[in-house]
Amino acid sequence: MADQKTNHDSYQAMLDAVQNFHTKNDFKNKGGEELVYRVALMSEELGEISTCITKGQTHDKLAEECADLLILLMGTAIAADFDLRSAFWVKMNNLMSRQGRMINGRIRVSEFRES
Ligand SMILES: [Mg+2]
Repeated sequence: MADQKTNHDSYQAMLDAVQNFHTKNDFKNKGGEELVYRVALMSEELGEISTCITKGQTHDKLAEECADLLILLMGTAIAADFDLRSAFWVKMNNLMSRQGRMINGRIRVSEFRES
């Protein structure tokens, strides 16, 4: 349970909080960790983020919906048993090594394959 002693800057503390949420609601035995279901939930939250932008909702609401998606992503790491923290840093280093390109007036940092 998060309290004043929780280090809010710690990824591990955040992961522990999400694990506690899963345990409290017995996600593992009640379908809450099924990956197809989780993809649907993440899509739903992405839609809510989109609604914030397209309907001009407040940045506080946008932050809340982004937090919903982050919690789902971290929960998916628990459900699928992978190390999201490690994957984040591997990918971040990969992204930092790439050159961005302007495409239709916007920067895109991707793995461009010549076709
Ligand atoms: Mg939401």
